[in-house]
Order: sequence, then structure tokens, then C-alpha cells
Amino acid sequence: MSGDAGSIPDATAEAPAMAGGGSQPILNVEDLRVTFSRHGRVVHAVNGLNYHVYPGRTLAIIGESGSGKSVSVRALMGLLPPSAHIEGSARLDGTELVGLDEKSWRAVRGQQIAMVFQDPASSLNPTMSIGAQLIEAIRMHSPIKRGEAAEKAIELLKLVRMPSPEKRVKQYPHQLSGGMRQRVVIAIALSSDPKLLIADEATTALDVTTQAQIMELLADIQERLGMAVIMISHDLGLAACYAHKVLVMYAGKAVEYAQTRTLFSNVRMPYTKALLDAIPQLTTPAHAQLTVVGGHPPDLASLPEGCSFRPRCPNATEQCGAEPPLEEHEPEHSYACWHPAASGGSLAGTKEEPR
Ligand code: SF4
Repeated sequence: MSGDAGSIPDATAEAPAMAGGGSQPILNVEDLRVTFSRHGRVVHAVNGLNYHVYPGRTLAIIGESGSGKSVSVRALMGLLPPSAHIEGSARLDGTELVGLDEKSWRAVRGQQIAMVFQDPASSLNPTMSIGAQLIEAIRMHSPIKRGEAAEKAIELLKLVRMPSPEKRVKQYPHQLSGGMRQRVVIAIALSSDPKLLIADEATTALDVTTQAQIMELLADIQERLGMAVIMISHDLGLAACYAHKVLVMYAGKAVEYAQTRTLFSNVRMPYTKALLDAIPQLTTPAHAQLTVVGGHPPDLASLPEGCSFRPRCPNATEQCGAEPPLEEHEPEHSYACWHPAASGGSLAGTKEEPR
């Protein structure tokens, strides 16, 4: 991926020949469903998700809070509570993840799939030095001697462009800035050379400058290592800059799915359009009221009949009482809507312009 800030990655070649890459998806998700049973209510958090991710490519999963995006990727990591019931299929490089027992998870989680969470402070142990945490992570995945692991720890810190890595390994998390802590978390995630890295709102807690630096870093590392990346975000501008494909989720379902350039040059699903319209623009006058997506996301334990976006949608008609299927209406562009927005909706609402 090109890492230029302010550019949309070239998503035209979906299956790149990259280091460690190939022409086959590394991850295939088919009809993934997650429900939670609570106090006699069944919450349908993920309702039949389908997507694939290629090595060396980034898929952004976008949506409001409660759309099911984080639950869907936590299912891939075996990180959901026992109350979760998971159905469907998620195959990582041929290994079926749905239904794995805890022993099998240990060979996958943190090794083949690694995850970077939103808050680096809570991902790190405040009582251990950065070096000790890295060495522990390295030795968990490969039985190497401590001295060798210490050298690898410094290499990993260099990989994530940590300034003065020899000094940082002796420091504790509270002695580092938020951006540096997130670099350490990424270094720990990379310590097992994962095939898939999941970044769950990984830059949300950071200031805009540090956010851009971390995203550039992830893009650069991905290009060098050929990893697949899933980025979970509510930020369409970030997805426009760094993802090759975008999947928009609403009420646990994919409602629009396309190559990044295709999606942002021709938004069709009214929900995606509403998300775009809610992004403040440089031309927005100071003190002007910001646009918001009207209404509220539906109760996942009591979804409305038909299209779940119907109560909030300006285009809704009676036909929307029947659920629209997610179909490929245009090449590499699927959306679930009976009355899509006019063709040609563009990136106007996002922070960045295409190259
Ligand atoms: S199917 Fe109907 S309610 Fe749903 S997004 Fe399309 S127009 Fe709106």
C-alpha cells in the first residue's frame, strides 16, 4: 500500500504478489453470525457477514457504535464471552476458526492473528518494562534464549520506528507518550509474525498527528511484511486513506462493500452517505451545526422488519418493509438497498481527496 497521507490506496489489484502474499485470500468469512442471550433476550450482534481479505491488503470495517464491527472481529480472535453463540465460517489460511477449542485457539490467537486495541495503556502491563513485555511476547511464540529475545525486542522497536529503542526497552509504559505506547503494542503484535493484524479503533485515542503517524507506520509495515490487515473504525476519512476495500456495517450486517476508490467515488447506500455527510469539512463555517446521522441504531434484540435502516432513511418506501439483499449491482460494488442514492456521490464529505 502506498502510505502517502491524503491518498486512496490503489485497490484495483485485489490480489497482489507481495512478500508473504499470494493470489488467494488469507481470510474467508462466510455467513458469520453472533448472538448473545441475556435475560431471555437474544441480541443479534452479527447477522450473516461475508468478506475476504488478501495478504498485503487492508479491509476497513466501518459503522457506528453497536453496528457489530468489533464483535465480528473479536469472534475471529476467540475473544467473545461464553454467552456468545457463533455460527458460520471464518477460515484463516485454511484453518476454521469457528468452533475452535481453547487449546487450538492458543496456537492461533496472538500467533497467526494479532490484535491492536484502542487504548495502548490498558494493553500494556504498567509494572513491567517495555523490554520485559516484548521479551515475554517473543518467547511465548518461539523458544529462543533470553539474550536473543532481547536483541529481537530492539529490532521490533526499530521496525515500529521507536526513537532510541535501546533506551526505551528499560522504560515503563507511563514514561512513554500515547503514540509511543501504541508503537510498543504494535511491536508486541508483530512479535509472532502474524498473517492477519486486526486494528480495532487503534488510533482513536491518539491526537490527529500521532494518528497519521501510526497509520503510516502500519501501512509501511504491511507493505514490508505482506500481512493482511483489518481496520475497525468509525472514521470514513481514515478508511479512504488507508484501506483497499471497505465494508460498511449496520445492525450486524454488511450494507455496502466495495473497493475503496469505487465506494468513495460512488456512494450508493443511504446509510454510508449519511456517515459521509456527517464528516465536518474544511469549508464548514465555524459555529455551524454539524450534520449527524438522524435517529438511533436499532435494538439488536428487536430488529425492525425489512431494512434495518428504514426508521432513519430519507429514501424509505413501503418496499423497504422487505429486507434488501446485499448484491453486486456494479462491478466490485455491492450494496443492500431498494432505492440507492443517486450514482456519482463522492468523497466530498471526507477529509482527504483521492490521488
Ligand atoms: S432499502 Fe429502503 S430503507 Fe433501506 S436504505 Fe434503502 S431506501 Fe433506505
